[in-house]
Amino acid sequence: MPARVTFASARPKELRAEATLPKLLDRMLARWALKKRFKGKRVAVKMHLGYNVGYSTISPLLVRRVVDAVTQAGGKCFVTDVPGAVATAAHRGYTAEVLGAPLAAVAGPADKYVYPRRVNYRTMKAVNLAGNIVDADAMIVLSHGKGHGQSGFGGAIKNIAMGCVDGTTRGRIHRLMSAAFQWDRSKCTGCLLCRDNCPNQAITYRDGQISIFDHACKYCMHCVLACPQHAITIDQRGYRWFQRGMALTVREALKTFQPGRVLYVTVLLQVTPFCDCWGFTTPSIVPDIGILAGEDIVAVETAALDLIKPEDFIAGSLPAPLNRGGGGHLLEQIHGKDPYIQIEECVKLGLGSAEYKLSKVQ
Ligand code: SF4
Ligand code: SF4
Repeated sequence: MPARVTFASARPKELRAEATLPKLLDRMLARWALKKRFKGKRVAVKMHLGYNVGYSTISPLLVRRVVDAVTQAGGKCFVTDVPGAVATAAHRGYTAEVLGAPLAAVAGPADKYVYPRRVNYRTMKAVNLAGNIVDADAMIVLSHGKGHGQSGFGGAIKNIAMGCVDGTTRGRIHRLMSAAFQWDRSKCTGCLLCRDNCPNQAITYRDGQISIFDHACKYCMHCVLACPQHAITIDQRGYRWFQRGMALTVREALKTFQPGRVLYVTVLLQVTPFCDCWGFTTPSIVPDIGILAGEDIVAVETAALDLIKPEDFIAGSLPAPLNRGGGGHLLEQIHGKDPYIQIEECVKLGLGSAEYKLSKVQ
């Protein structure tokens, strides 16, 4: 049976406040039995609060409506993210007063309050789950859906995998991919043919050292072929290892909640090519889409990706050196990475169903 996913469109049917997104969000949340789910519970609202001058994170107005809905249902919210994002959240409009709930760093201000869990996957032997997530009774995964250089798409899966752990674990997940890029210094003559043949400006040369930025790499293998010394090797499986690492981390984080205690709300507004962690905002690559909600992470994530369509691409929205090339999902055309692989890995772990039925909120 397909999982139910509700959808509030950002394109109003009528020019009345009641027909616009904040009001549709209220009506959508009412469909998810918040009282049963959250009454008397301590609810983590897990967000990505962004950095620096980014302004495409979820509007504080929408966050407030989610917090108010949970509070009215008898839940006690706190809004949470990694320490650096929480420490500067007020600069982007996120304060306890505005949101109606306190803010807390997921693993404490020093990023040291964690619960380790063994996963034994390649070089990632364990993940350190953030203490404030493990201690919460329930969670709303409030995600901004957008592109991401390393994972193709940043939605609910990435929000949990990278945001419900400490920085050490984030590093371990990232290294699953970066370890696939190898440069042999002893063979390199410094000719820079690799850098000059990279169409995505992913290669830098500094102090005699070649570095490949895996966010920007599209696995075209031009550098590998261009190198006369065979000094560069790239294992294309690294991307899937990284996605598998994210899925395993999600599984460990979700295990800490009783069934029915996690709700996913994904906001598809200002769908930018880059993640909010870049600390700045670039133009939206498609028109605003709306907000999704559901209790199946895989279904919500699949629906979010399906709604970001190549045919809706806004010309002129990609900053150099980004460009579109090849087939597949729009985000794959931009980043060279299939964004559905993280979903496949979650399905393999039994975290949900990619089959969904979209129910539109009026
Ligand atoms: S594989 Fe392609 S995109 Fe990646 S670093 Fe090499 S040349 Fe650049
Ligand atoms: S092309 Fe090969 S030899 Fe030339 S700089 Fe790059 S890695 Fe070194």
